[in-house]
Parts: sequence; structure tokens; C-alpha cells
Amino acid sequence: MAQIAGSPEATDFRSDVLVPGGLLVWERDRFDRVTASLDLDPATICALHCADRSLIVEVPLARDDGSMTVLTGYRVQHSSALGPAKGGTRFRPGVHLDDVTALARLMTWKTALHGLPFGGAKGGVDCDPATFSSRELREITRLYTLGILPIIGSEVDVPAPDVGTGEQTMAWMAHTAAEAGRSEPGIVTGKPVLLGGSLFRTASTGVGVAHVTQRAWEHLGGTLVRSRVVVEGFGAVGYWAAVELQQRDARLVGLSDVTGAITADRGLDPVAVREWIDAGNKLVDYPAADTVRGSVLALDCDIAIPAAIEGTLSGALANTMSATLVVEGANGPTTPTAEAILQPRGIAVVPDLVANGGGVISSYFEWAQNHQRESWPEAKERRQVLDRLDRTWEILAVRPHEAWRDHALRTAIARVAEALSLTGELPANPSPQQRTVTT
Ligand code: NAD
Repeated sequence: MAQIAGSPEATDFRSDVLVPGGLLVWERDRFDRVTASLDLDPATICALHCADRSLIVEVPLARDDGSMTVLTGYRVQHSSALGPAKGGTRFRPGVHLDDVTALARLMTWKTALHGLPFGGAKGGVDCDPATFSSRELREITRLYTLGILPIIGSEVDVPAPDVGTGEQTMAWMAHTAAEAGRSEPGIVTGKPVLLGGSLFRTASTGVGVAHVTQRAWEHLGGTLVRSRVVVEGFGAVGYWAAVELQQRDARLVGLSDVTGAITADRGLDPVAVREWIDAGNKLVDYPAADTVRGSVLALDCDIAIPAAIEGTLSGALANTMSATLVVEGANGPTTPTAEAILQPRGIAVVPDLVANGGGVISSYFEWAQNHQRESWPEAKERRQVLDRLDRTWEILAVRPHEAWRDHALRTAIARVAEALSLTGELPANPSPQQRTVTT
């Protein structure tokens, strides 16, 4: 447990250690801070924050050894104000209704910020995928999908992959829905290409993270060529971010996953590291690198990319890290204590809402292609995803970096509030032009 000497929140452990449900507290604090600067009436603020619907399902699994275990799954639809709810599905130990709720809200703000015709949702099952056989994982997915099927649909709520799930999980989800008579194109996104997935979806989040990293770094006066980058998390997001950054001539000096962290001053080749892991080895044992004790984010570098899970960038790290730019590949990696330390240290943070938006933008294009029974070339989708990220980046670029997180959130919340007013669900609030905004 990190206590930060001299930090304004030194005794507030709540904000620096992620306990189950803690993400909900962080999210609420940020929401309150931002809505206080928007001229919204209390009814609108309340409606903006409430989730439309939360479902808990039991997943009774017959194990391969003949025993029975009952897992718990969740699906939270936060908002459909701008379109069908949209959000990932995570299989992870400790998945909890409160965290899923916070992540569903984050999705609402993310889709709104990037101008997508979607709302926000999130789902998950409290389980450790590494401890189940492929048959068991398919059965968990099947039972979870049947449980949430009454509330999902391509025009209602569209799940996607997240931590611990991938295109195989999405194939199983779509198949389960079809077998139950719900053969809807675009009922989930992140599917294998052969089953209607888009060619760019797998790489989209990580490539988008790398693209936004370049935009932000150049905006701050740097050049990506030979800049020293570390990436925490070597899954769907971290791997593709590392590959794309290397292709853009950055030097990848540190990488980590749950097995540990590695470093190489001359640079790491993420493709070679992936091959090493795919051959059944641990990242931490990669031979052409040194092992790092502690967080990879603490290494000597210019740019740090937490792309693993929420809450990894703690106040203790924020006090000592050398990076001058943090790009949030993961959702919610920076603790509030860390945030309060990074700002006065002049370390810029590109918030998750902006940085990892490439994934949901690509999901939107997959969904649109499914509706049109089309399949775009990868280059077309890549270009369109990066164009949209550029448009969102421009929203931040006109502000000082200290205001990036709040400005992104404020822009998104204002859009959702306006949608609620336009549909007559809530009394009209002042238009965005009329609103008094304090930064
Ligand atoms: P993933 O399951 O594919 O990969 C997660 C990686 O993080 C794994 O390599 C794991 O070993 C590593 N990891 C876990 N805990 C760690 C820790 N404490 N320190 C270092 N490494 C750790 O998950 P993902 O899909 O890559 O998602 C990563 C993050 O990005 C999550 O916060 C997720 O919500 C967010 N995200 C994912 C997508 C997407 O398209 N997959 C889109 C937007 C946001």
C-alpha cells in the first residue's frame, strides 16, 4: 500500500489503492468535478449518472473433472441516449458490479466524445480464464450469453472483447445468440474476420494508442524517432501499441505483463517477444532483455503507456517516474493520487477516453459493415479510425495538458446531456454555446 509523503491526498488510501468497487469512487469524483463546471440542473446530472439497466447472471459451470462451480456475470447498460449501448466483456478474477458500472459510464463518455452513434455498456464474468479448459471457457461464454441475451441486440446493446476475452469469445457469443434464434448481424463486435469481423479491429485499439501518442508527443515538442517508450501490459492493446510505435521508429525500452517486466536499452522487438510467449514461455524470461524489479512504468523513458488494467499508475510511481508523457492505453490506469502528483510535475496525461478510443471506433465500423453486408479493406478502416482519432485529438490540442482529462469528459457529458434534452427526456438545459464553462 503506497502512502505518498507530501501528497495532498497522503492519507486517502481510497484514491491510490484499487479495492473492489474503487473505480466507481474515482469515476464519481471525476464526474462530480466536471459536472460542477457545466450549468446543468440537478435532475439532468442525476439522469446522466444513473445506469439504465444492470443485470446479474449466475453461470453454473460443469467442470471437466465432473465438479460444479457457479460463476457470477454482469452486464450494465449505462446510457442509450446517443444510440445502442456499446462496451466490452471482461473475464477476470474479481470482476465486480461496481467496477463494471464505472466502466460502462466510461464507455458512454468515450462513444460520445468520438462522435459515435452509441451509448455505453460493459459486462464481465468473475473468473480466471487461465484456470479453465477451452471447453469450459466456451460453456462459460455460452451460459453468460444466454443470461444476458434478453437485454443485448445489435440495436440495443452490442458487446465486444475486453480483458481476458477476444475474437474467439465473440465467435462463441454470436453463435450462442444465433442458436437461440437471434442471428443478428453486429450483435457483437470483435468477431473473427470469417464471421463478420473487420480486418482492422484486432489492431485498432493499440494502433490508435500509438497514433495518439505521436500526436501528443509532437504537440509537446518531441519527435517519436528514437524516443524511449515503455508499455505496461502485453495483451490486445499493449502488443499492437508496441508494434505500431516501433514501426513509427520509437525505441521500446520496456515491456511488462502479469509475469513481470523486461528492459533493453537498445530496444525490444515486440514481434519477437510475442513469438517467445506464443512458444509457451513467459515474457519475463525473454532472453534478449534484462528483468526489471517493480513497475515497467518506473524505467528511464520519455513516454509511459499503461495498457494493462485500472489502477496501476499509483502515487508512488507518479512521484518518481521519468516519463514526461503518459498515454492511458488501459481504462482508468492512473489513480487520483497519481493524477494530483503528475500535474504539478508537468507530466502530461492523455486520458483513456481519447487514447484508447480506436477500439470502439473500429467496433462501430465493424457494426456498420455488418449492417451493410460489406467488408472494407483494412487500409480503408485504418484510415477512417485514425481520422476520427485526429478529430478527437483536436478537441484536446487547443487546451493546456493539465485540462485534457476534464475537457474530454466535459465535452462528452455535454453531448449526452444535450441528447437527453433534445429527446425531451429532460427539461432543456442551456445549449453548449450558452453554458458557463470553467476550466
Ligand atoms: P488483455 O487481457 O488482452 O491484456 C491485458 C495484459 O495486461 C496482459 O498482457 C496481462 O498479462 C497484463 N497485465 C495484467 N495485469 C498487469 C499488471 N498488474 N502489470 C502488468 N501487466 C499486467 O486486455 P486488453 O484487451 O489488452 O485490455 C487492456 C486494457 O485496455 C484494459 O483496461 C481494457 O479495458 C482496455 N481497453 C481494451 C480495448 C480492446 O479493444 N481490447 C479497448 C479499449 C480499452
